[in-house]
Amino acid sequence: MRLCFGSYLAVLVSCKAVNVDNKQLCEALLHSVAPNYEFTFAGQENPDRVREDVTSKLLRCEQNLPKDVTDPARTADPQEVALYFKDHVLGLLNENLSKQIILAFKDIIANDKPEMIKNKMHGIEDDTKIELVNGIIKRELAVQTEFLFHSFLAGIFLYTATKTTNRYGKKTIESIDYDYIVSFNSRIDGINLIADKAASFSLPNIKNGKADTEFAEDVAGYVVDKIKLLKPATVQEDSLLVTLLSEANGNCLKCGKKLGIPKRGKIPVGNYEIVYLKQPSNERDQYENAVALCSDDCAPIVSEMSADEITDLLESKKRCAATQAFLDKISGIKFQNQIESVLREVHKIKNTKGLEGTDMKDLVEIERKIHEPFLKDKINASMARLYKTVNGICGRLEQEIGFDTNMFGGLMKSASLMLDGGVKSNGDIADPQEYIMNLLIDNLFLQVGQKHKDACEIIIGYLVKRCDLFNENAKQS
Ligand SMILES: [Zn+2]
Repeated sequence: MRLCFGSYLAVLVSCKAVNVDNKQLCEALLHSVAPNYEFTFAGQENPDRVREDVTSKLLRCEQNLPKDVTDPARTADPQEVALYFKDHVLGLLNENLSKQIILAFKDIIANDKPEMIKNKMHGIEDDTKIELVNGIIKRELAVQTEFLFHSFLAGIFLYTATKTTNRYGKKTIESIDYDYIVSFNSRIDGINLIADKAASFSLPNIKNGKADTEFAEDVAGYVVDKIKLLKPATVQEDSLLVTLLSEANGNCLKCGKKLGIPKRGKIPVGNYEIVYLKQPSNERDQYENAVALCSDDCAPIVSEMSADEITDLLESKKRCAATQAFLDKISGIKFQNQIESVLREVHKIKNTKGLEGTDMKDLVEIERKIHEPFLKDKINASMARLYKTVNGICGRLEQEIGFDTNMFGGLMKSASLMLDGGVKSNGDIADPQEYIMNLLIDNLFLQVGQKHKDACEIIIGYLVKRCDLFNENAKQS
């Protein structure tokens, strides 16, 4: 194991709160020392994609932190960084995983052993200061059981930003995922989180010359004032609303009007209402039948909708939820590794018998067992970014293992023959493109030993686009 910014981020990404994305978490960390630092410049094209790309490179240990971050990290006031973490980072993490996060860092650091690699020492010595807010050395951390969480996170972050280069972790980073985090579940009883005493620390000289009871009263008064400043606890409905609107991409599910997503203090741009579409009407109000609609046009007319319209709306809701779940699944580093592993598998097959063996017959013989009508939506939603990923991995594998992307030619050719020869005119097949896509995905999935279905989907999507299969004028190479 190696501690570096990539492995640090990989731990936190595996523990992020619902509706937080990787780039947002990554930027929040960097802003702790470089508040004005941005991955993009004003007017840049596709800024979100750029932010995602940089985050992903940092997360894969393929890029170092920029000097604009590491320089200020060296001179930052550790206490201020810790306060920043309390206010701006903790909220992005799943609060139920704090102890697992601590255990994960303890584990990574303990296993980051000093060793000589190419005449250079790597790893962390026992007396190295590893947590830079409280000045804890590696040997002390190994036996530490009490943690002020935000301060610990900030201290480790400062270490990764100032003392490591982000290439250290490249080999081990794949093993840091959600499964790794929850592998610590059985040990969380060994960690105590210290309640934050910052409030009482900041009482200005209040105890000077005062009796204990008077002091206590002052403290009580101070705490009451602080409590009054807190926002009322968010009600359950808020998180349901965020979920529903996130799934619907911030739009009214019926008319598509922009409503926005009210997360982290953002106010929705439109008036909305959560409506429960109950069939039969005695169903409970629950996530499964809840939709967010604009309250200007759509919510008021729900009571007049026909059963079919209600069914349609519930179908759209399910589709949105499935798309969101798919996007969540493919946003992590693990997914890129799955794509790579499918491609490597394909390469192996190529060397034994080859994918060219795929002919029309093989494809036709695969049953139409999947019916996923919204595949195209899913593919479209994340296509550009993932195709770039596939393209990049293919390019790298070409160098590394002599991977031959053209080997997919046979597969694509048989698909295009099928498309022309009957599938298009078969009235039973509603969407020929989707039908062919599914056959191709199934075929690849079978060929690589039924692993990583989602990665297969993306690779096929990439190939279809690359070969321009569905463009009538295109010729297959
Ligand atoms: Zn509407």
